[in-house]
Amino acid sequence: MNKKPVRVIFPGSFDPITNGHLDVIQRATKLFDELIIAVGRSPIKNQLFAPEERLEMIAELITAMPGVSVESFEGLTVEYAASKKADVILRGLRSLTDVQYEFQLAMTNRAVAGIETVFIMTSEQYGFTSSTLIREVASLGGNLSNLVPKNVHKRLQQRFNNK
Ligand code: ADP
Repeated sequence: MNKKPVRVIFPGSFDPITNGHLDVIQRATKLFDELIIAVGRSPIKNQLFAPEERLEMIAELITAMPGVSVESFEGLTVEYAASKKADVILRGLRSLTDVQYEFQLAMTNRAVAGIETVFIMTSEQYGFTSSTLIREVASLGGNLSNLVPKNVHKRLQQRFNNK
């Protein structure tokens, strides 16, 4: 019997994408047939990079990943997932602190839209990596070469002008 390919969306701010996100994406490609990285255009969050820039950086990183694509979206994640006919929402987990919030989000998404969320735990080495901290450290000129991909590192340096 031919099984239908499983399509998953990985929604997030990705401001910017980090090695932690990439680790989750790479692990997910082994489990799912199609993965759409969905960059949220949230009007509320403090942004460093515009959605187009975040999308561009991600696009550069996934060129050699078959089945992986990137898009931006506005509004409710579950509505975007439905518009893409996605079967699953993917989220990454770093620590137990993530679990509480993610649990609530996943339960809400299931209650309102009946969509399942699957979690992938990041490699221990990225357990403390967050886009928020990356933005802060970059603004102070810290070296982030182990925590973000090269193209992101370059853009951060350009943004904060500390080459
Ligand atoms: P959001 O604003 O929706 O939390 P993020 O870009 O911060 O967007 O995160 C997107 C997803 O990636 C979330 O599920 C988050 O828990 C996960 N994530 C963030 N950083 C890491 C990391 N270092 N390792 C694994 N997952 C991560």
